[in-house]
Amino acid sequence: MRGASDGNGEGSAGEAAIGRGGNGDRSLRARMHTAEHLLSAVMRRRFGAPRPVAAHLDGGRKGRCDYVVSRPFVPEDAVAVEAAVRGLIAQDLSVSVRRMSRVEASAHFDLEAVPPDVKTVRLVAVHGVDETPCSGAHVDSTAAVGGFRIASFTPREGGVVRLRFRVDAAPR
Ligand SMILES: [Zn+2]
Repeated sequence: MRGASDGNGEGSAGEAAIGRGGNGDRSLRARMHTAEHLLSAVMRRRFGAPRPVAAHLDGGRKGRCDYVVSRPFVPEDAVAVEAAVRGLIAQDLSVSVRRMSRVEASAHFDLEAVPPDVKTVRLVAVHGVDETPCSGAHVDSTAAVGGFRIASFTPREGGVVRLRFRVDAAPR
């Protein structure tokens, strides 16, 4: 996740945060954060949602993300999105980090959520799925996220749907 809107302050991609998390991080925070990347990638594919307009990870196993959707989100979507995220977890895709100058990154990525003083952008890639500016902690590969569930969804104004999700207490 990415974003000034991230409730726990994890989202903005910036030099200051480089070094947090790191290889082999299987903390709950890293699992939740990686789950959010997967959820956002699935929402982009399915609804064209560019990224969450707001997101919050509560520090526990629950998180919520708001997405602008191109059509009403229905219960079948919740089932399909959950299945798609679980599928990405099951594929055990590698999660990697690289850094790029802001100038170069601006040609390829939306840097709106990256603080303006950040000159080197940290990019987090889920192999074959998604690469996005982010400063947070992530697991090394998606299987470490463990179980994932869409707990609920709520339509909101402005064509937004709020998704609440959970991960299991411990990774598989
Ligand atoms: Zn992230």
